[in-house]
Amino acid sequence: MAESSERANSVFITGLKNAHALENQALELMNRQVERIENYPDIKAKLQEHIQETHDQIHRLETILESLGESRSVLKDNALSLTGNMAAIAHSFAQDEIVKNSIANFAFENFEIASYKSLIQLAAETGHKDAEQPLQETLREEQAMASWIDGHLPDVTHTYLERYSANEKAGL
Ligand code: MG
Ligand code: FE
Repeated sequence: MAESSERANSVFITGLKNAHALENQALELMNRQVERIENYPDIKAKLQEHIQETHDQIHRLETILESLGESRSVLKDNALSLTGNMAAIAHSFAQDEIVKNSIANFAFENFEIASYKSLIQLAAETGHKDAEQPLQETLREEQAMASWIDGHLPDVTHTYLERYSANEKAGL
C-alpha cells in the first residue's frame, strides 16, 4: 500500500475507534439513566430502545474495524468510559435530573451525528465502500433519537414543572 493511502487509512481507523469509545460511553450514560427513571415511562422506554440500537452500532463498528485488520480484543475504551460515568453521576445530584439529562442526551446524540457524518466521508475518501452503508444506518438511528429528544423536551420540562409544583417526586 502506498504511504499516502496507509496514512489516510489510519485516519479512518482512529475515527472508528473513537466512535467505538463514544458508543460505549453512550451505553453507560443511558444504562445509568434507565436504572433511575421512575416517573417518565416514555423516556425510559425510548432509552431502552436506543440502548438496543447502540449494541448494534457497536457491533457494526467492530465488524468494520475487523475488516481493516483491527482485532476486537484491543478495543479498550476505559478512559472515555470513565468520563461517561462521571457525567452521569454529576447529573444524578441535580433536582431537575430528568430535564438536565434530556438536554445532555440531545447534545450527545448530536455529537454522534457529527461523528458519523465525518466517518462516512472518511469511508468514501479511503475507498471503503462496504463501510458506508452500516455507518449510514447508524447515522439515521442517531438522527431519529436526536429528533425524538428534540420533540419531547418541552413535554418533559412541562411534566417536571407540574410534578415539582405539586410537591411530587419530579426529578426522575
Ligand atoms: Mg450511538
Ligand atoms: Fe445515539
